[in-house]
Amino acid sequence: MKTIRINLSANSYNIYIDRGLLEKVGDTLVKEKTPCKTLLITDKNIEKVYGNIVSESLQRNKFDVRLVSIKPGEEQKTLETALTLYDACFDHKLDRNSLIVALGGGVVGDISGFVAATFMRGVPFVQVPTSLLAQVDSSIGGKVAVNHTRGKNMIGSFYQPKAVFIDADTLSTLPAIELVVGLVEVIKYGVIKDAELFEYLEKHLYDVLQLDREALLKIIATSCQIKAKVVEEDEKEKHLRAILNYGHTIGHAIEAVTNYKKYRHGEAVAIGMIYAAGIAIEMGLTNNAVLERQRSLIKRLGLSLKTGLKPENIVKTLYADKKVIAGRLRFILPVKIGEVVISDHVTEEILYRVLSKPL
Ligand code: ADP
Ligand code: ZN
Repeated sequence: MKTIRINLSANSYNIYIDRGLLEKVGDTLVKEKTPCKTLLITDKNIEKVYGNIVSESLQRNKFDVRLVSIKPGEEQKTLETALTLYDACFDHKLDRNSLIVALGGGVVGDISGFVAATFMRGVPFVQVPTSLLAQVDSSIGGKVAVNHTRGKNMIGSFYQPKAVFIDADTLSTLPAIELVVGLVEVIKYGVIKDAELFEYLEKHLYDVLQLDREALLKIIATSCQIKAKVVEEDEKEKHLRAILNYGHTIGHAIEAVTNYKKYRHGEAVAIGMIYAAGIAIEMGLTNNAVLERQRSLIKRLGLSLKTGLKPENIVKTLYADKKVIAGRLRFILPVKIGEVVISDHVTEEILYRVLSKPL
């Protein structure tokens, strides 16, 4: 088992990464937390395959577990669903020393974390992410949230879990497209911080897509390590943490313009990364090879880079984003594979030029 420590003074915790880890969640957790009343939150898809394994592992270690599952899907990540989860907390008589365990993808992780952060002003919580996106991104860093009709993740907080358990074997049941969109975030980590990870993907993408366990463990652990380091240096997203948003500035705008219906997050981010590389080229920060290597990896994932969206619609939405600082757009731009810069100097003219070119 690989253990990555996230050092956040009083909020420090371990990320455990292995295969076959689901059945050991209880055994590992009991070393850190006295058995207690535990609400295991999952979704209906994941309950079917993994609900019992995790529940029994906790029960064997004397945790008093109640399982509750929500309907799958991003549209469930609302305050209404949170209210039903608070009811489950009351029904199972949770108190401030109890435990909430999130077993699932990013939706389950975000809403369970939100409930854990707010029920009685905070109940300890643990993440057991089962989608690649959740394993390499959303389960780490302490962002918890629900959606509001006015925007995604608009109601939330920073609330760190007590531990994260990542079992690479869970990816064997994950729908193929979910694996692919998770890989976009892994490519992102390569571009922002780790040329070696990027090269590893170029060489071993086939193994990863075939779910070779060694390859999966390697990319998951490396991604977690990178995110952990960035979060350690900047827990509350003041500055450095912004680099994790590479590809996300335009990516979010593309998702928003299409009402979150046409593109999955990862697909939109993939397009956003190519545009960001295009902007960097226009600004003389990088060369064409940095763009082409990203394009080639994304194409090999089978993702389309076509948008057909009007540049002015994307630009308008960009300025409405919560990341606009004093009227300026903030972009994360690649200098080379493994290094990015934060820039507030992308002009509208450059933006239009890049957005008007075919991808
Ligand atoms: P994300 O993790 O991308 O934020 P979700 O939480 O909505 O998004 O998960 C994506 C979909 O994959 C959901 O329908 C969820 O039920 C399903 N899912 C997540 N993990 C697994 C898994 N290991 N096996 C099967 N289905 C899974
Ligand atoms: Zn993302």
